[in-house]
Amino acid sequence: MPEPAFCLYCGEKLTTKQIEGRDYRACSREGCGFVYWDNPLPVVAAIVEHEGKVLLARNKLWPVKMYGLITGFLEKGESPEGAVLREVKEELGLDGKLVGLVGLYAFRERNQLIIAYHVTAAGEIRMNEELAEVISVPPEQLRPWSFGTGHAVKDWLKMRGIAAG
Ligand SMILES: [Zn+2]
Repeated sequence: MPEPAFCLYCGEKLTTKQIEGRDYRACSREGCGFVYWDNPLPVVAAIVEHEGKVLLARNKLWPVKMYGLITGFLEKGESPEGAVLREVKEELGLDGKLVGLVGLYAFRERNQLIIAYHVTAAGEIRMNEELAEVISVPPEQLRPWSFGTGHAVKDWLKMRGIAAG
């Protein structure tokens, strides 16, 4: 994500300011005090179990054969549990049931904190327009990828006693 060039409060130019030994973009106007902290953004992710298999989705913008978990940002005031079930409903058209938290994962390359849940869902899948394809993979055939939500998949398989391949 590109950093903002101007203050979000007063519109003044941002400069680099050292705060507790780290460089931040901060407002140059006296008395404003705005600092662009660039904190990681929380993202919810769902390992959706459907008829004994795990659903992986391919976003329309992704290359062919690239699949991932259902993910999304929290809306203002929303709980992570509420957000993950809403994303499952929106993207797959399924009413999910929360099984539990799988874990929290720092996705440093994207400056995100992934909050991963195990969700079960039944019924007919109705993809929304963001997705190009949804595939069902038996858990023992899942091959966790080595970045982002892949770490959650790996831990989930371990929790179920399946060695990740
Ligand atoms: Zn300012």
